[in-house]
Order: sequence, then structure tokens, then C-alpha cells
Amino acid sequence: MAVPTASTRSLRPLASLRRLTVAALGLFAAAGVQAADPFPHKPIALVVPFSAGGPTDVVARSLGQAMSRHLGQSVVVENRTGAGGTIAPAYVARAEADGYTLLIHHNGMATAPALYRKLSYDPLKDFEYIGQVADVPMTLLGKKDLPPNNTAELVRYVQQNESKINLANAGLGAVSQLCGLLFEQATNVKLNVIPFQGTAPAMTALLGGQVDVLCDQTTATLPQIAANKVKLYGVTTPQRIRALPNAPTLQEGGLKGFEMKVWHGVYAPKGTPAPVVARLTAALQAALKDPAVVKRLDELGAEIVPPAKQTPEGLKTWLKAESDKWQPMLRKAGAFAD
Ligand code: ASP
Repeated sequence: MAVPTASTRSLRPLASLRRLTVAALGLFAAAGVQAADPFPHKPIALVVPFSAGGPTDVVARSLGQAMSRHLGQSVVVENRTGAGGTIAPAYVARAEADGYTLLIHHNGMATAPALYRKLSYDPLKDFEYIGQVADVPMTLLGKKDLPPNNTAELVRYVQQNESKINLANAGLGAVSQLCGLLFEQATNVKLNVIPFQGTAPAMTALLGGQVDVLCDQTTATLPQIAANKVKLYGVTTPQRIRALPNAPTLQEGGLKGFEMKVWHGVYAPKGTPAPVVARLTAALQAALKDPAVVKRLDELGAEIVPPAKQTPEGLKTWLKAESDKWQPMLRKAGAFAD
């Protein structure tokens, strides 16, 4: 039997201390405590409810790239399309609340509860709020060879042809659907509504002449307008916009009170730890000062929201106000889905 020497004897306490430390670390890990694991230590998914190449996707990609630079981790855009933009929030609401799965969405977060009888998430309860991003005007477009040349002529034309007119949108709950509905209400017509998975395929159909009318964000429509591939009737904001100074507003075209703009927010699943939310909000705010983002959004006609809105409280308050504004009107309009 080996007799312990003076030096092995003195090593014993060290070895048992090491065993204890390893055991304690194991306990910490088992309890989910990741002290040496600062956020973020792996890529973050930014989930977009509509198809790639559409206006929400364009904002998400520009924002995601800049947030990556500020977080030191990639922010990867994931398009989870369908059901008018309600698949993506349902997915994010159920994702792990660790800050690695985020959602970017627009007005659809405020309108979906009035449009879907069986929505599996509550926009006001199932999320942590990171902050708002940018506001985007919409444009009312016709296919290139649609006969009317201005809003007043378009109104007469749709009233005469009504259900023969194909109105494209990105599904029940999309802003294009809301804008189309406002147009139908303002002109007192029921058009033939054709839903797509996002603006990208809806725009392809407009360019191909398979649909007649589409109302959508400048973030997707400016290039087509500049290339003269579509007919522009007007912008949905009460004032003309810098990106299209010669385009009349729809109100100027005779649609009194017609007003709509698109806003975007970033969300995390409910229960995401406060320090993680704070880190993401800081990255969002830094991204919105990033010259590449400022330039890109400006080119697309989008307006970065003021700093007070780039906050969890700013987004939550706005979402509540928008929910209260649109939901009663939509319930009355009766456009429901399960
Ligand atoms: N603009 C679309 C909408 O109508 C969505 C998109 O493709 O980004 O909601």
C-alpha cells in the first residue's frame, strides 16, 4: 500500500476543493444559472411574418444587420409566413423566453385579435416589448394598364366594376388588407379580394396584371413606382411625403378622412429576463442611429420613430392605443377568420 508522502498529503485538500467546485458548477448549470454566459452568446432569430423581399422583411433585414453589429452576434431573419401574419407571433409567443427568438411585426399586432376568432396569442399579454422601429406610408397602386389615371377616376371605375376588380393583399390581418378595407369603405364597394403570403408575391401579381389594385408600404412600392411599372394613385398619409413629393394624398384625391400609416415593433416572448430585454432595446436604439439604417430607411420612405417610442414602454403604450383604435371598427366590419 502506498504511503502518502508529504507532497501528496498537501495536494488532497486542493483536489477535494476542485471536486466541490465542479459539483457546484454542475448544480448551477442544472438550475439554469449561466453566470459565465453573457447575452448574446449565439445567433438571434428575428422572425418576420411575411415573405422575403416584402416591406416588413426589408425593414427587418436592415435593422437586423445593424443590431448584429451592436450585439456582436448575428441576427438572422426568418420568414414564417401565413394566416395574415399571425403564424409568426404565435411561434414567437411559444418560443423559449431567452432573447434568442424575436418578432418584428406591424399594425397586425393591433388588428389580428379583431379578425381571428381563435388567435392563439394575446399581443398585449404574451410578449415583452423591445421597442418601435419606423413608420411607413402606404401607396395605392393599380396595374400599369388600369384605365383610371387619378384617384377620382379610380373611385368611379371601381364603383362601376365593383366585384370585377381584383384587390390584392397579404392576408387577413396584413396592412394591405386594412388599407384595402378602408378603400372599400370609403368608396362603398366590395371588391374581389385576393390574399397572398406577403407583399412580394402580391406585387408580382400586380406587375403581371393578374390583379388590379394593391395598397402597400413605400418600402416595397417605391422601386416599382420609380421604374414606372405600376400606376400610382396616391399616398395614405394626410400630408404628401418626401419620397414622392408629386404624389397627391388620397384625401386630396377626394377620399375624405382616409389616413393610414404602418408602424413596426420588435417583441420577445413573455418572461424574457429584464437585462436581456434592456440589452436588446439598447441594440435596437443603436441600430436606429446607425448611418446605414438611417440611409436605407430614408430611401424607402420610412421614418425612424422618435427615441421615446424606441422603448418597451413606447411600444406597449402604442400597441394598446392602436388596438383600441382599430379593433372596434374591424369587429363592426365583420371580416373574421378562425
Ligand atoms: N406589406 C405587407 C402587409 O400588407 C406585409 C409584407 O409583406 O411585409 O402587411
